[in-house]
Amino acid sequence: MKEYGKIKKLSGLLSSRQMSCEELTRMYLDAMESENETLNAYVSYTADLALETARRVDAKAAKGEALLPLEGIPMTLKDNISTKGMETTCCSKILKGYVPIYDATVWQILQKQNAVLLGKTNMDEFAMGSSSETSCFGGALNPHDISRVAGGSSGGVASAVGGNLAVYGLGSDTGGSIRQPASFCGLVGLKPTYGAVSRYGLIAYASSFDQIGPIASSVEDAALVYDAISVYDEKDSTSRGKTEPASAALQNDIRGMKIGVAKEYFEGIRGDVNDALQQVIRVYESLGAEIVRFGMPSLKYSLPVYYILACAEASSNLGRYDGIRYGFQAEHYSDPNDMVCRTRSEGFGDEVKRRILLGTYVLSAGYYDAYYKKAQNLRGEIVNAFQGAFEQCDVMLAPTVPMTAFPRNFTAKDPVETYQTDICTVPVNIAGLPAVSVPCGFDEAGLPIGMQLIGARFCEAKILNAAYQYEAATRETTFRAAETGVRL
Ligand code: GLN
Repeated sequence: MKEYGKIKKLSGLLSSRQMSCEELTRMYLDAMESENETLNAYVSYTADLALETARRVDAKAAKGEALLPLEGIPMTLKDNISTKGMETTCCSKILKGYVPIYDATVWQILQKQNAVLLGKTNMDEFAMGSSSETSCFGGALNPHDISRVAGGSSGGVASAVGGNLAVYGLGSDTGGSIRQPASFCGLVGLKPTYGAVSRYGLIAYASSFDQIGPIASSVEDAALVYDAISVYDEKDSTSRGKTEPASAALQNDIRGMKIGVAKEYFEGIRGDVNDALQQVIRVYESLGAEIVRFGMPSLKYSLPVYYILACAEASSNLGRYDGIRYGFQAEHYSDPNDMVCRTRSEGFGDEVKRRILLGTYVLSAGYYDAYYKKAQNLRGEIVNAFQGAFEQCDVMLAPTVPMTAFPRNFTAKDPVETYQTDICTVPVNIAGLPAVSVPCGFDEAGLPIGMQLIGARFCEAKILNAAYQYEAATRETTFRAAETGVRL
Protein backbone atom coordinates (compact mmCIF):
# COMPACT_ATOMS: atom_id res chain seq x y z
CA MET A 1 0.00 0.00 0.00
CA LYS A 2 1.30 3.44 -0.89
CA GLU A 3 2.20 5.50 2.17
CA TYR A 4 1.37 9.17 2.36
CA GLY A 5 2.80 9.94 5.78
CA LYS A 6 5.54 12.55 5.94
CA ILE A 7 6.70 11.71 9.46
CA LYS A 8 8.02 8.20 8.72
CA LYS A 9 9.54 9.39 5.44
CA LEU A 10 11.41 12.25 7.13
CA SER A 11 12.39 10.09 10.08
CA GLY A 12 13.91 7.60 7.61
CA LEU A 13 15.92 10.37 5.95
CA LEU A 14 17.17 11.62 9.31
CA SER A 15 18.17 8.25 10.73
CA SER A 16 19.90 7.19 7.52
CA ARG A 17 21.58 10.61 7.54
CA GLN A 18 20.52 11.37 3.99
CA MET A 19 19.47 14.68 5.44
CA SER A 20 20.51 16.34 8.68
CA CYS A 21 17.87 17.55 11.08
CA GLU A 22 19.54 20.96 11.11
CA GLU A 23 19.18 21.15 7.33
CA LEU A 24 15.52 20.13 7.52
CA THR A 25 14.80 22.59 10.31
CA ARG A 26 16.47 25.43 8.41
CA MET A 27 14.27 24.68 5.38
CA TYR A 28 11.20 25.17 7.51
CA LEU A 29 12.58 28.25 9.26
CA ASP A 30 13.46 29.82 5.89
CA ALA A 31 9.98 29.05 4.56
CA MET A 32 8.44 30.65 7.64
CA GLU A 33 10.59 33.70 7.12
CA SER A 34 9.30 34.17 3.58
CA GLU A 35 5.72 32.91 3.82
CA ASN A 36 4.42 33.59 7.29
CA GLU A 37 3.96 37.26 6.59
CA THR A 38 1.28 36.25 4.10
CA LEU A 39 -0.36 33.38 5.99
CA ASN A 40 -0.08 34.82 9.54
CA ALA A 41 0.05 31.25 10.81
CA TYR A 42 2.75 31.77 13.45
CA VAL A 43 2.54 34.34 16.22
CA SER A 44 5.99 33.55 17.64
CA TYR A 45 9.11 31.78 16.43
CA THR A 46 11.32 29.46 18.46
CA ALA A 47 14.20 29.18 15.98
CA ASP A 48 16.99 28.88 18.57
CA LEU A 49 15.24 26.08 20.39
CA ALA A 50 14.46 24.36 17.08
CA LEU A 51 18.09 24.42 15.92
CA GLU A 52 19.41 23.36 19.33
CA THR A 53 17.04 20.36 19.28
CA ALA A 54 17.96 19.59 15.67
CA ARG A 55 21.65 19.41 16.55
CA ARG A 56 20.85 17.03 19.40
CA VAL A 57 18.97 14.79 16.99
CA ASP A 58 21.85 14.89 14.49
CA ALA A 59 24.32 13.89 17.22
CA LYS A 60 22.11 10.95 18.09
CA ALA A 61 21.77 9.88 14.45
CA ALA A 62 25.54 10.20 13.98
CA LYS A 63 26.05 7.70 16.81
CA GLY A 64 23.72 5.32 15.00
CA GLU A 65 21.11 5.46 17.77
CA ALA A 66 17.52 4.68 16.75
CA LEU A 67 15.25 7.71 16.55
CA LEU A 68 11.89 7.88 18.33
CA PRO A 69 8.81 8.22 16.04
CA LEU A 70 8.54 12.01 16.28
CA GLU A 71 12.21 12.72 16.85
CA GLY A 72 13.56 15.60 14.76
CA ILE A 73 10.25 16.33 13.04
CA PRO A 74 9.50 20.08 12.72
CA MET A 75 6.15 20.95 14.29
CA THR A 76 4.10 23.66 15.96
CA LEU A 77 1.82 24.19 18.99
CA LYS A 78 -1.32 26.30 19.18
CA ASP A 79 -0.66 29.29 21.40
CA ASN A 80 -2.94 28.05 24.21
CA ILE A 81 -0.60 25.16 25.04
CA SER A 82 1.72 26.19 27.86
CA THR A 83 5.42 26.26 27.10
CA LYS A 84 7.76 26.98 30.00
CA GLY A 85 9.84 30.09 29.44
CA MET A 86 8.06 30.90 26.15
CA GLU A 87 5.27 33.41 25.84
CA THR A 88 1.83 31.76 25.66
CA THR A 89 -0.86 34.30 24.84
CA CYS A 90 -4.05 32.53 23.67
CA CYS A 91 -3.83 35.35 21.10
CA SER A 92 -5.41 37.67 23.67
CA LYS A 93 -4.18 41.10 24.70
CA ILE A 94 -4.85 40.10 28.32
CA LEU A 95 -2.14 37.42 28.19
CA LYS A 96 0.45 39.38 26.23
CA GLY A 97 3.76 38.99 28.01
CA TYR A 98 2.61 35.96 30.01
CA VAL A 99 5.40 33.39 30.23
CA PRO A 100 4.31 30.08 31.82
CA ILE A 101 6.48 28.59 34.56
CA TYR A 102 5.58 25.04 33.57
CA ASP A 103 5.06 22.92 30.46
CA ALA A 104 1.81 21.37 29.27
CA THR A 105 2.04 17.59 29.54
CA VAL A 106 1.78 17.18 25.75
CA TRP A 107 4.76 19.46 25.27
CA GLN A 108 6.71 17.59 27.93
CA ILE A 109 6.03 14.35 26.06
CA LEU A 110 7.11 15.86 22.74
CA GLN A 111 10.27 17.35 24.22
CA LYS A 112 11.28 13.89 25.43
CA GLN A 113 10.99 12.81 21.77
CA ASN A 114 13.13 15.78 20.61
CA ALA A 115 10.25 17.22 18.59
CA VAL A 116 11.48 20.35 16.79
CA LEU A 117 9.21 23.22 17.84
CA LEU A 118 9.30 25.92 15.15
CA GLY A 119 7.00 28.40 16.89
CA LYS A 120 3.54 28.92 18.39
CA THR A 121 0.55 29.34 16.14
CA ASN A 122 -2.34 31.74 15.74
CA MET A 123 -5.84 31.09 17.05
CA ASP A 124 -9.11 32.75 17.93
CA GLU A 125 -8.79 34.59 21.24
CA PHE A 126 -9.06 31.95 24.01
CA ALA A 127 -10.17 29.48 21.28
CA MET A 128 -13.52 31.22 20.89
CA GLY A 129 -14.38 31.45 17.22
CA SER A 130 -14.35 29.74 13.85
CA SER A 131 -12.01 31.85 11.72
CA SER A 132 -9.03 32.79 13.94
CA GLU A 133 -10.05 36.40 13.28
CA THR A 134 -10.81 37.11 16.93
CA SER A 135 -7.03 36.75 17.49
CA CYS A 136 -5.31 39.92 18.69
CA PHE A 137 -2.78 39.22 15.93
CA GLY A 138 -5.40 39.16 13.15
CA GLY A 139 -6.59 36.02 11.33
CA ALA A 140 -4.57 33.14 9.86
CA LEU A 141 -5.15 32.68 6.15
CA ASN A 142 -5.95 29.62 4.07
CA PRO A 143 -2.98 28.30 2.09
CA HIS A 144 -5.38 27.15 -0.67
CA ASP A 145 -6.69 30.69 -1.19
CA ILE A 146 -5.55 33.64 0.86
CA SER A 147 -8.81 35.50 0.32
CA ARG A 148 -10.22 32.84 2.69
CA VAL A 149 -9.60 32.13 6.35
CA ALA A 150 -7.87 28.99 7.60
CA GLY A 151 -10.76 28.40 10.00
CA GLY A 152 -10.67 28.34 13.75
CA SER A 153 -9.95 28.30 16.42
CA SER A 154 -6.78 26.32 15.62
CA GLY A 155 -6.47 28.22 12.32
CA GLY A 156 -2.76 28.93 12.75
CA VAL A 157 -1.90 25.23 13.04
CA ALA A 158 -3.94 24.41 9.91
CA SER A 159 -2.47 27.34 8.00
CA ALA A 160 1.07 26.28 8.97
CA VAL A 161 0.59 22.58 8.18
CA GLY A 162 -1.41 23.28 5.00
CA GLY A 163 1.19 25.83 3.85
CA ASN A 164 3.95 23.33 4.68
CA LEU A 165 5.41 25.56 7.36
CA ALA A 166 5.26 22.60 9.81
CA VAL A 167 4.91 18.85 9.36
CA TYR A 168 2.19 18.66 12.00
CA GLY A 169 0.82 20.65 14.90
CA LEU A 170 -1.19 20.29 18.07
CA GLY A 171 -4.43 22.21 18.36
CA SER A 172 -7.35 22.07 20.78
CA ASP A 173 -10.97 21.23 20.04
CA THR A 174 -13.81 22.38 22.29
CA GLY A 175 -16.54 22.52 19.65
CA GLY A 176 -14.70 21.80 16.40
CA SER A 177 -11.49 23.81 16.56
CA ILE A 178 -9.24 21.02 15.29
CA ARG A 179 -11.64 19.48 12.75
CA GLN A 180 -13.06 22.66 11.19
CA PRO A 181 -9.70 24.26 10.26
CA ALA A 182 -8.42 20.86 9.11
CA SER A 183 -11.47 20.64 6.84
CA PHE A 184 -11.00 24.20 5.53
CA CYS A 185 -7.34 23.56 4.73
CA GLY A 186 -7.58 20.04 3.26
CA LEU A 187 -5.93 18.33 6.23
CA VAL A 188 -6.52 15.56 8.73
CA GLY A 189 -7.58 16.74 12.21
CA LEU A 190 -8.24 14.41 15.14
CA LYS A 191 -10.25 15.38 18.21
CA PRO A 192 -9.56 12.56 20.66
CA THR A 193 -11.96 11.09 23.23
CA TYR A 194 -12.37 13.34 26.27
CA GLY A 195 -9.70 12.04 28.66
CA ALA A 196 -7.45 10.44 26.03
CA VAL A 197 -4.94 13.31 25.97
CA SER A 198 -3.92 15.27 29.08
CA ARG A 199 -5.31 18.79 29.33
CA TYR A 200 -2.68 19.78 31.90
CA GLY A 201 -1.20 23.07 30.71
CA LEU A 202 -3.87 23.68 28.07
CA ILE A 203 -5.28 27.11 28.91
CA ALA A 204 -8.91 26.34 29.64
CA TYR A 205 -11.85 27.55 27.61
CA ALA A 206 -14.61 25.04 28.54
CA SER A 207 -13.03 22.30 30.63
CA SER A 208 -15.66 19.59 30.15
CA PHE A 209 -15.28 19.88 26.35
CA ASP A 210 -11.62 20.82 25.69
CA GLN A 211 -9.28 18.22 24.16
CA ILE A 212 -5.84 18.51 22.52
CA GLY A 213 -5.21 16.69 19.24
CA PRO A 214 -3.12 16.67 16.05
CA ILE A 215 -3.56 18.36 12.68
CA ALA A 216 -1.47 16.68 9.96
CA SER A 217 -1.44 16.12 6.22
CA SER A 218 -2.13 12.38 6.30
CA VAL A 219 -4.03 9.91 8.45
CA GLU A 220 -0.82 8.05 9.26
CA ASP A 221 0.83 11.18 10.64
CA ALA A 222 -2.22 12.07 12.74
CA ALA A 223 -2.23 8.51 14.14
CA LEU A 224 1.49 8.61 14.99
CA VAL A 225 1.12 11.90 16.85
CA TYR A 226 -2.02 10.71 18.62
CA ASP A 227 -0.24 7.55 19.76
CA ALA A 228 2.60 9.61 21.19
CA ILE A 229 0.47 12.07 23.15
CA SER A 230 -2.38 9.88 24.41
CA VAL A 231 -0.88 8.74 27.69
CA TYR A 232 -2.30 8.73 31.20
CA ASP A 233 -1.36 11.81 33.23
CA GLU A 234 -1.91 12.05 36.97
CA LYS A 235 -1.90 15.85 36.69
CA ASP A 236 -5.24 15.80 34.83
CA SER A 237 -8.01 14.26 36.91
CA THR A 238 -10.01 13.44 33.77
CA SER A 239 -7.08 11.67 32.08
CA ARG A 240 -7.39 8.02 31.15
CA GLY A 241 -4.93 7.56 28.31
CA LYS A 242 -5.61 5.32 25.36
CA THR A 243 -6.27 1.63 25.12
CA GLU A 244 -4.65 0.49 21.87
CA PRO A 245 -2.15 2.13 19.49
CA ALA A 246 -4.04 3.60 16.53
CA SER A 247 -1.18 3.43 14.02
CA ALA A 248 -1.02 -0.37 14.30
CA ALA A 249 -4.65 -0.71 13.18
CA LEU A 250 -4.61 1.57 10.11
CA GLN A 251 -4.29 -1.20 7.54
CA ASN A 252 -7.02 -3.43 8.98
CA ASP A 253 -9.57 -4.59 6.46
CA ILE A 254 -12.82 -2.64 6.75
CA ARG A 255 -15.01 -5.18 4.93
CA GLY A 256 -18.15 -5.61 6.97
CA MET A 257 -17.51 -2.46 9.02
CA LYS A 258 -20.84 -0.78 9.78
CA ILE A 259 -20.81 2.93 8.97
CA GLY A 260 -23.68 4.86 10.51
CA VAL A 261 -25.27 7.83 8.76
CA ALA A 262 -27.62 9.99 10.85
CA LYS A 263 -29.85 12.10 8.63
CA GLU A 264 -29.78 15.12 10.96
CA TYR A 265 -26.12 15.74 10.10
CA PHE A 266 -27.08 16.26 6.48
CA GLU A 267 -29.90 18.75 6.99
CA GLY A 268 -29.03 22.26 5.88
CA ILE A 269 -25.59 21.48 4.50
CA ARG A 270 -24.54 22.96 1.16
CA GLY A 271 -25.36 20.91 -1.96
CA ASP A 272 -21.77 20.35 -3.03
CA VAL A 273 -20.78 19.24 0.48
CA ASN A 274 -23.68 16.79 0.46
CA ASP A 275 -22.64 15.51 -2.99
CA ALA A 276 -19.08 14.94 -1.76
CA LEU A 277 -20.39 12.99 1.24
CA GLN A 278 -22.63 10.82 -0.96
CA GLN A 279 -19.57 10.00 -3.03
CA VAL A 280 -17.73 9.02 0.18
CA ILE A 281 -20.57 6.63 0.97
CA ARG A 282 -20.10 5.01 -2.45
CA VAL A 283 -16.37 4.66 -1.84
CA TYR A 284 -16.98 2.95 1.48
CA GLU A 285 -19.52 0.64 -0.10
CA SER A 286 -16.97 -0.28 -2.75
CA LEU A 287 -14.51 -1.08 0.05
CA GLY A 288 -17.01 -3.54 1.49
CA ALA A 289 -18.36 -1.47 4.37
CA GLU A 290 -22.06 -1.55 5.19
CA ILE A 291 -23.99 1.73 5.44
CA VAL A 292 -26.54 1.89 8.26
CA ARG A 293 -29.00 4.79 8.23
CA PHE A 294 -30.88 6.11 11.24
CA GLY A 295 -32.14 9.29 12.89
CA MET A 296 -30.84 11.11 15.99
CA PRO A 297 -33.52 13.69 16.75
CA SER A 298 -31.82 15.06 19.88
CA LEU A 299 -28.92 16.37 17.74
CA LYS A 300 -31.08 19.43 17.08
CA TYR A 301 -30.33 20.62 20.63
CA SER A 302 -26.57 20.47 20.11
CA LEU A 303 -25.91 24.11 19.30
CA PRO A 304 -27.84 25.67 22.21
CA VAL A 305 -26.49 23.01 24.60
CA TYR A 306 -22.92 23.70 23.48
CA TYR A 307 -23.14 27.48 23.57
CA ILE A 308 -24.88 27.55 26.99
CA LEU A 309 -22.51 25.11 28.68
CA ALA A 310 -19.29 26.25 26.99
CA CYS A 311 -20.02 29.90 27.83
CA ALA A 312 -20.92 29.01 31.43
CA GLU A 313 -17.62 27.20 31.85
CA ALA A 314 -15.71 29.96 30.08
CA SER A 315 -17.16 32.63 32.37
CA SER A 316 -15.76 30.71 35.34
CA ASN A 317 -12.42 29.77 33.74
CA LEU A 318 -11.68 33.31 32.58
CA GLY A 319 -12.40 34.77 36.02
CA ARG A 320 -8.71 34.34 36.85
CA TYR A 321 -7.54 37.10 34.50
CA ASP A 322 -7.58 39.93 36.99
CA GLY A 323 -4.49 41.89 35.98
CA ILE A 324 -2.54 40.67 39.01
CA ARG A 325 -1.29 37.21 38.21
CA TYR A 326 -1.06 37.04 34.44
CA GLY A 327 0.03 39.19 31.51
CA PHE A 328 -1.58 42.54 30.87
CA GLN A 329 -2.60 45.11 33.50
CA ALA A 330 -4.44 48.37 32.77
CA GLU A 331 -2.18 51.37 33.03
CA HIS A 332 -4.49 53.88 34.70
CA TYR A 333 -6.81 53.04 37.59
CA SER A 334 -8.03 54.50 40.86
CA ASP A 335 -8.25 51.47 43.17
CA PRO A 336 -7.88 47.64 42.96
CA ASN A 337 -11.49 47.10 41.87
CA ASP A 338 -11.14 49.69 39.17
CA MET A 339 -7.86 48.03 38.08
CA VAL A 340 -9.54 44.61 37.63
CA CYS A 341 -12.47 46.19 35.81
CA ARG A 342 -10.27 48.22 33.44
CA THR A 343 -7.85 45.32 32.85
CA ARG A 344 -10.69 43.03 31.79
CA SER A 345 -12.46 45.72 29.75
CA GLU A 346 -9.28 46.63 27.87
CA GLY A 347 -7.71 43.14 27.79
CA PHE A 348 -10.51 40.96 26.42
CA GLY A 349 -11.87 41.24 22.89
CA ASP A 350 -15.57 41.53 22.02
CA GLU A 351 -16.25 37.83 21.36
CA VAL A 352 -14.69 36.78 24.67
CA LYS A 353 -16.68 39.45 26.53
CA ARG A 354 -19.88 38.30 24.80
CA ARG A 355 -19.30 34.74 26.00
CA ILE A 356 -18.41 35.74 29.55
CA LEU A 357 -21.63 37.77 29.72
CA LEU A 358 -23.69 34.94 28.23
CA GLY A 359 -22.08 32.48 30.63
CA THR A 360 -22.67 34.53 33.77
CA TYR A 361 -26.25 35.13 32.59
CA VAL A 362 -27.12 31.43 32.21
CA LEU A 363 -25.55 30.70 35.60
CA SER A 364 -27.27 33.52 37.50
CA ALA A 365 -30.01 32.86 40.07
CA GLY A 366 -33.37 32.69 38.34
CA TYR A 367 -31.92 31.62 34.98
CA TYR A 368 -29.82 28.68 36.13
CA ASP A 369 -32.72 26.19 35.96
CA ALA A 370 -34.09 27.57 32.70
CA TYR A 371 -30.78 27.47 30.83
CA TYR A 372 -27.81 25.81 32.50
CA LYS A 373 -29.68 22.93 34.11
CA LYS A 374 -31.82 22.30 31.06
CA ALA A 375 -28.72 22.24 28.88
CA GLN A 376 -27.05 19.74 31.24
CA ASN A 377 -30.09 17.48 31.00
CA LEU A 378 -30.08 17.71 27.21
CA ARG A 379 -26.37 16.89 27.21
CA GLY A 380 -27.37 13.58 28.78
CA GLU A 381 -29.89 13.02 25.99
CA ILE A 382 -27.24 13.55 23.34
CA VAL A 383 -24.83 11.18 25.12
CA ASN A 384 -27.59 8.55 25.13
CA ALA A 385 -28.40 9.14 21.46
CA PHE A 386 -24.77 8.40 20.51
CA GLN A 387 -24.73 5.34 22.73
CA GLY A 388 -27.80 4.09 20.85
CA ALA A 389 -26.16 4.89 17.52
CA PHE A 390 -23.03 2.87 18.35
CA GLU A 391 -25.18 -0.14 19.15
CA GLN A 392 -26.07 -0.09 15.45
CA CYS A 393 -22.74 0.80 13.84
CA ASP A 394 -18.96 0.80 14.32
CA VAL A 395 -18.24 4.37 13.20
CA MET A 396 -20.40 7.27 12.03
CA LEU A 397 -19.92 9.40 8.93
CA ALA A 398 -20.90 13.09 8.82
CA PRO A 399 -19.83 16.32 7.16
CA THR A 400 -17.32 18.35 9.18
CA VAL A 401 -18.67 21.79 8.23
CA PRO A 402 -21.83 22.58 6.20
CA MET A 403 -19.69 24.65 3.79
CA THR A 404 -16.09 25.35 2.74
CA ALA A 405 -13.66 28.02 4.00
CA PHE A 406 -15.26 31.40 4.76
CA PRO A 407 -14.11 34.53 2.97
CA ARG A 408 -12.24 36.91 5.25
CA ASN A 409 -14.43 38.93 7.67
CA PHE A 410 -17.40 36.59 7.23
CA THR A 411 -17.53 35.91 10.97
CA ALA A 412 -17.52 39.60 11.89
CA LYS A 413 -21.03 40.05 10.48
CA ASP A 414 -23.28 38.08 12.78
CA PRO A 415 -22.12 35.96 15.72
CA VAL A 416 -25.18 33.70 15.67
CA GLU A 417 -24.72 32.95 11.98
CA THR A 418 -21.14 31.96 12.76
CA TYR A 419 -22.20 29.78 15.73
CA GLN A 420 -24.57 27.93 13.38
CA THR A 421 -21.67 26.80 11.21
CA ASP A 422 -20.49 24.67 14.19
CA ILE A 423 -23.57 22.47 13.88
CA CYS A 424 -21.74 19.36 12.67
CA THR A 425 -18.74 19.53 15.01
CA VAL A 426 -20.19 20.32 18.48
CA PRO A 427 -22.16 17.07 19.06
CA VAL A 428 -19.06 14.92 19.68
CA ASN A 429 -17.65 17.43 22.18
CA ILE A 430 -20.95 17.33 24.06
CA ALA A 431 -20.70 13.53 24.21
CA GLY A 432 -16.91 13.39 24.75
CA LEU A 433 -16.38 11.20 21.67
CA PRO A 434 -13.46 10.98 19.22
CA ALA A 435 -13.83 12.26 15.65
CA VAL A 436 -11.42 12.78 12.78
CA SER A 437 -11.90 15.19 9.90
CA VAL A 438 -10.58 13.94 6.57
CA PRO A 439 -10.45 15.70 3.17
CA CYS A 440 -13.06 14.32 0.77
CA GLY A 441 -13.22 16.63 -2.23
CA PHE A 442 -13.24 20.20 -3.47
CA ASP A 443 -15.90 22.77 -4.25
CA GLU A 444 -16.12 24.67 -7.54
CA ALA A 445 -13.65 27.26 -6.34
CA GLY A 446 -11.11 24.54 -5.51
CA LEU A 447 -11.59 24.78 -1.75
CA PRO A 448 -11.33 21.55 0.26
CA ILE A 449 -14.40 19.78 1.65
CA GLY A 450 -14.07 17.66 4.80
CA MET A 451 -15.88 14.72 6.31
CA GLN A 452 -15.90 13.39 9.85
CA LEU A 453 -15.60 9.85 11.08
CA ILE A 454 -16.96 9.62 14.61
CA GLY A 455 -16.32 6.80 17.06
CA ALA A 456 -17.51 5.49 20.38
CA ARG A 457 -15.38 6.46 23.41
CA PHE A 458 -11.72 5.46 22.98
CA CYS A 459 -12.32 4.02 19.50
CA GLU A 460 -9.71 6.26 17.86
CA ALA A 461 -8.08 3.21 16.28
CA LYS A 462 -11.31 2.33 14.52
CA ILE A 463 -12.04 5.80 13.08
CA LEU A 464 -8.43 6.22 11.99
CA ASN A 465 -8.56 2.79 10.34
CA ALA A 466 -11.67 3.83 8.37
CA ALA A 467 -10.04 7.18 7.56
CA TYR A 468 -6.83 5.53 6.38
CA GLN A 469 -8.68 3.14 4.08
CA TYR A 470 -10.58 6.04 2.54
CA GLU A 471 -7.32 7.95 2.08
CA ALA A 472 -5.67 4.94 0.43
CA ALA A 473 -8.58 4.60 -1.99
CA THR A 474 -8.91 8.27 -2.94
CA ARG A 475 -5.67 10.09 -2.16
CA GLU A 476 -4.89 10.80 -5.81
CA THR A 477 -8.33 12.30 -6.46
CA THR A 478 -10.48 13.78 -3.72
CA PHE A 479 -8.07 13.42 -0.81
CA ARG A 480 -5.46 15.97 -1.66
CA ALA A 481 -3.63 17.66 1.17
CA ALA A 482 -1.12 20.42 0.50
CA GLU A 483 1.98 18.79 -0.87
CA THR A 484 4.22 21.52 -2.06
CA GLY A 485 7.88 22.23 -2.36
CA VAL A 486 11.11 20.64 -1.38
CA ARG A 487 10.12 20.43 2.25
CA LEU A 488 8.36 17.12 1.45
N1 GLN B 1 -16.19 27.48 16.88
C1 GLN B 1 -16.47 26.97 18.19
C2 GLN B 1 -16.59 28.10 19.16
O1 GLN B 1 -16.54 29.20 18.74
C3 GLN B 1 -15.46 25.98 18.60
C4 GLN B 1 -14.28 26.53 19.26
C5 GLN B 1 -13.34 25.51 19.77
O2 GLN B 1 -13.47 24.32 19.50
N2 GLN B 1 -12.38 25.96 20.57
O3 GLN B 1 -16.75 27.94 20.34
